[in-house]
Amino acid sequence: AAKDAGRSQSKAFEPVMLYARQFRREMAAELREGVGRNELFLAYQPVVELATGRMTGVEALIRWRHPKRGLIMPDDFISIAEETGIILDVGRWVLRAALEQVARWEAQLALEPDFQVRVNLSAMELQRLDLVDHVRRALAETGIAPSRLVIEITESAFVSGGDVEMYSLKSLDALGVGIEIDDFGTGYSSISYLRRLPVHTVKVDRSLISEISADPGQLQFVDAVHGLIQAAGMEAVFEGIETLDQAADLLVLGCRSGQGYYFSRPLEAGQVAAILESGTTLPLVQASAAAPTA
Ligand code: C2E
Ligand code: MG
Ligand code: MG
Ligand code: MG
Repeated sequence: AAKDAGRSQSKAFEPVMLYARQFRREMAAELREGVGRNELFLAYQPVVELATGRMTGVEALIRWRHPKRGLIMPDDFISIAEETGIILDVGRWVLRAALEQVARWEAQLALEPDFQVRVNLSAMELQRLDLVDHVRRALAETGIAPSRLVIEITESAFVSGGDVEMYSLKSLDALGVGIEIDDFGTGYSSISYLRRLPVHTVKVDRSLISEISADPGQLQFVDAVHGLIQAAGMEAVFEGIETLDQAADLLVLGCRSGQGYYFSRPLEAGQVAAILESGTTLPLVQASAAAPTA
């Protein structure tokens, strides 16, 4: 009877599921073509030294300019790309585009030696034996030092910890590329496990800091998480900083580095160049508000 109930239930959902599946199949086909047609582009969100507002690097974030559907954000197509394996092409494109952009900035401006570009990788990319070779080649061909690149991998991707993933992490580490755990605090990985991996930085998820300025308990909790990350020999970056209060609270805790709408939204490459060139700190203050009233 239970089996029958299950069957009739799944039948009731069928049209919706069929539609969703068909939609995803169309999107996948369009994405496969879009990669070759230059429909993808990157936005760059500044990563900031909290104490000074200096931009120490950027995170490359993918967008899809669809010819008919308009601008599509990654949350609406990355999972489709992952299900279909298209993420491998997308990921290769992202890495190459981000490094080529850094090469342009290097040619154009005097980049600080510690300036880094962060690129997000899906779990599936980490499971490929040819990932490291691809990274090595992309660095060599763009002439970018490995130390300028940080690979961001979401926390949940570490939980499986398969052999190939381990090989990828160790080889990237040996290459001199930075490895970062993204969205830390949303998965179930233990810090003692992460400590044994070649991971250099931990990006603390936005959900952990959203309430710190309103909730002293949460602030204390984030303080403890930060202490744990440091005790594990890693550096913390805090994402999703939306207010001055949050930035100030994190600074008081001794946190050094962060990212979020308070400092800057994701920018075009030209806007990043303008900030680097002028040496301006973030957030950008409007000239009228900053100018003395005389
Ligand atoms: P993520 O790597 O955790 O990136 C941070 C996301 O939070 C970005 O959304 C960013 O625009 C947004 N964000 C930044 N500051 C704030 C803030 O102060 N408040 C709020 N509410 N949000 C903020 P975006 O660009 O839509 O990217 C979403 C996710 O898509 C990323 O999360 C990442 O997991 C994935 N993604 C983006 N680009 C790529 C890529 O090239 N490859 C892969 N595999 N995944 C990517
Ligand atoms: Mg990220
Ligand atoms: Mg993140
Ligand atoms: Mg996140």
